[in-house]
Amino acid sequence: MPEAACITPTDPITSMNAPRPLMSLDEALERLVAVASRQVIHEVESVSTFDALGRVLAEDVSSALDVPPADNTSMDGYALRVADVPAAGTVLPQSQRIPAGAVGQPLLPGTVARIFTGAQLPPGADAIVMQEQAQALEDGRVRIDTVPQPGQWIRRRGEDILNGSTVLARGQRLSPQALGLAASVGRAELRVLRRPRVAVFSTGDELVMPGQPLKPGAIYNSNRYTLRGLLQAAGCEVQDLGIVPDRLEATRAALRAAALHNDLIVTSGGVSVGEEDHLRPAMQAEGRLDLWQIAMKPGKPLAFGAVRRPNVLGGAAPDGSSGEALFVGLPGNPVSSWVTCLVAVLPLLRALQGMPAAALPSLAARADFDWPRPDRRREFLRARFNADGGLELFANQSSGVLTSAAWADGLVDNPAGQAIARGDTVRFLPLANLSAF
Ligand code: AMP
Ligand code: MG
Repeated sequence: MPEAACITPTDPITSMNAPRPLMSLDEALERLVAVASRQVIHEVESVSTFDALGRVLAEDVSSALDVPPADNTSMDGYALRVADVPAAGTVLPQSQRIPAGAVGQPLLPGTVARIFTGAQLPPGADAIVMQEQAQALEDGRVRIDTVPQPGQWIRRRGEDILNGSTVLARGQRLSPQALGLAASVGRAELRVLRRPRVAVFSTGDELVMPGQPLKPGAIYNSNRYTLRGLLQAAGCEVQDLGIVPDRLEATRAALRAAALHNDLIVTSGGVSVGEEDHLRPAMQAEGRLDLWQIAMKPGKPLAFGAVRRPNVLGGAAPDGSSGEALFVGLPGNPVSSWVTCLVAVLPLLRALQGMPAAALPSLAARADFDWPRPDRRREFLRARFNADGGLELFANQSSGVLTSAAWADGLVDNPAGQAIARGDTVRFLPLANLSAF
């Protein structure tokens, strides 16, 4: 009997090699998010507002004060009563001077107060005249060269935030301006979720670290930097396990080490079914694995599963959560691993942090290029805005050309089989929005 006939159709290797229907990215995302939503991170910590950038808020922040706390001036000039200035050219004595931070006296009728931006309005004043529309006279009095409108140049108490209102909502990622807003209501500390813990390793005996000589047959490990950077920018605490050799025992040991303290394990390379691709058998031994062929380009092979936590911890995470670390195996090609990390791992991380499932952030943009021969898979094309606000494509869209990724402002998300002609509107995923949504 020829050797091949000994392999039954149920043999995992055979079925792995057989052409399988490709799964849509949306379906893959639904599955990833569903699993991650079952092990949402619950541990909360207080951090200084200074250190909360990019963290996910674990409380609603409400204000116990009005902001601004009092009516104040938005101009350097003079505080006065409108009724005291019936006509331009009215001359009034100056009764006080109020710099920012000082609190003035009630304004004497028939006088003006010299006042500076941010200073509280003195009781009785109902308008500000900016200094450009007034003239300080030699005798100390002030000529007002305009007829003021009631309320002009006054910032009202509470016009930004009213006492008791919620200014930031639980579950949102903290931007620099959100930190400023929290500070504006007096918050020096914020309750945030602990960071997702993510272990990363690269597989491949051809990989050499920058700083080392490049021996024949080798290439530098770029994915390690790209993935680590993406995950750090997304607010993760990254445990970098470096390069794991293409050997089964080493891969299994790396998975066990990675599962110990992490919520998620992200790897690059080794998820095909070549005999040097050891992740599949290693995952089957240490946990469970689904190998998916995703209908996307770049990034077809994607592996998803979970690794059992070693018994040292009694099968549970330090916070008492699930006894497994989730696993995503990204393809090795540098652009593929970058794109799949953006469109698949980042949504999974959102779900792990209890954030609602959301479409990848996109905008409609004009194509200033032609794409006459689309792929049968959904494509993510590296593109950049030109000075006219249209999108241009990087000339070489190959999944090994990392230059395209460093050049791009984002990805054109092109549906399967859809040709693009110059002037068409396309769906664009801006990198700035993707990397921390
Ligand atoms: P693999 O998925 O392991 O078959 O790798 C696919 C391609 O990506 C091969 O050309 C690898 O050399 C390349 N590759 C794999 N890992 C990395 C990495 N960490 N950095 C750069 N290229 C890689
Ligand atoms: Mg490999």
